Amino acid sequence: MSIPTADSAAGQAVKAADRAHVFHSWSAQALIDPLAVAGAEGSYFWDYEGNRYLDFSSQLVNTNIGHQHPKVVAAIQEQAAKLCTIAPGFAVESRSEAARLIAERTPGDLDKIFFTNGGAEAVENAIRMARLHTGRQKVMSTYRSYHGATANAIALTGDPRRWANETGVSGIVHFWGPYAYRSPFHSENEAQECERALAHLEETIAFEGPHTVAAVILETVVGTAGILVPPAGYLAGVREICDRYGIVFILDEVMAGFGRTGEWFAADNWGVVPDLLTFAKGVNSGYVPLGGVAISPAIAATFAERPFPGGLTYSGHPLACASAVATINAMAEEGIVENAKRIGEDVLGPGLRDLAERHPSIGEVRGLGVFWALDLVKNRETREPLVPYNAAGAANAPMAELAAACKQRGLWPFVNMNRFHVVPPCTVTEEEAKTGLAVLDEVLSLTDAHTV
Ligand code: PMP
Repeated sequence: MSIPTADSAAGQAVKAADRAHVFHSWSAQALIDPLAVAGAEGSYFWDYEGNRYLDFSSQLVNTNIGHQHPKVVAAIQEQAAKLCTIAPGFAVESRSEAARLIAERTPGDLDKIFFTNGGAEAVENAIRMARLHTGRQKVMSTYRSYHGATANAIALTGDPRRWANETGVSGIVHFWGPYAYRSPFHSENEAQECERALAHLEETIAFEGPHTVAAVILETVVGTAGILVPPAGYLAGVREICDRYGIVFILDEVMAGFGRTGEWFAADNWGVVPDLLTFAKGVNSGYVPLGGVAISPAIAATFAERPFPGGLTYSGHPLACASAVATINAMAEEGIVENAKRIGEDVLGPGLRDLAERHPSIGEVRGLGVFWALDLVKNRETREPLVPYNAAGAANAPMAELAAACKQRGLWPFVNMNRFHVVPPCTVTEEEAKTGLAVLDEVLSLTDAHTV
């Protein structure tokens, strides 16, 4: 791959305009220094100085098909030449084809698709459907979760980004999901963790009043809050509990869906079928904003004669849908989901476990497909996290140092709290994955130095 020659002046102009006028998400505006990006291809992007970065973040775990996939770029261009926009009330080819391809791949009988512009809107509409379908109000989610930044989605979110947004909205209940490595139930193994987490959920429902609970929403594999892979039997157990009490089971696959775990949907790893499934990101690798909800026939039937009271001007936008069609077709034609599975099983899993043999700051390696986290610790015996929960500034220095060292070596990291998330595109090659692992091997000596 040849990247354009450095053009520092152009980069500085981009940066100056950004600093003057762009208000960035999740940031103290005066304290950030965004990299000016000039272009991208495959697993790489580059800046205006001629520095190239191997993208182990997939841009917020989004570019599953890699950057600038030629078939997806061409599909967007063709659609733009044909029809750029049309209101959601019309039937158009790119939208109906995207819905068909998504419905064909989602688990079980989820065969109607409501389109949104992204993940949070998908979550908002899924819980709207669940509330109207059941006539109940409460929605339950786990503390270790992220579901988006709009009103209900941020209230459902368990991680600290919720705090500054509170008092939030009414009708949200949090509970603990399974996390065997730091068990909220003091379990000694995964089987016990599964059993206790299910008992805890059922008891929480009993105390909330089952007749008041519309939905339980879970990330199939928890993403931003730690790449927590559920123990065998957990999702099937939640499915059973939801069925027992007439509660809608929503799986949030905004991050885990479309190949990330080495299956089209993470739920396929356990053969579980939710009532509603939210998706975004990987559906078209984020080339044009798109998300949605896949809906079971029973819930779709609720809105057969009665109007669904929700909608978005850009729902099922033709450019977004055309890019989803091209993405899904390219993923199928090029074996990209299979690649994610193979890279996970043959390269990332063994490679990260090998690093754990040599680096005492790695407490746990967990994940599947191209969806992994290193849970970094100060002390392997006590499992004390390398930095305190939600650490900022000096308290977070060990993680900030680690991220900076990766960038200096041309690896773009995804770091969250005490974790290093390894989330390259599903298209990542064996050689690229090994290059990233080699950089990690070097930089983890920095976090090792903080262990006791
Ligand atoms: N749900 C999950 C599981 C997510 O990871 C995210 C985004 N990281 C969202 C919802 C929200 O998606 P968006 O940022 O597109 O609104």
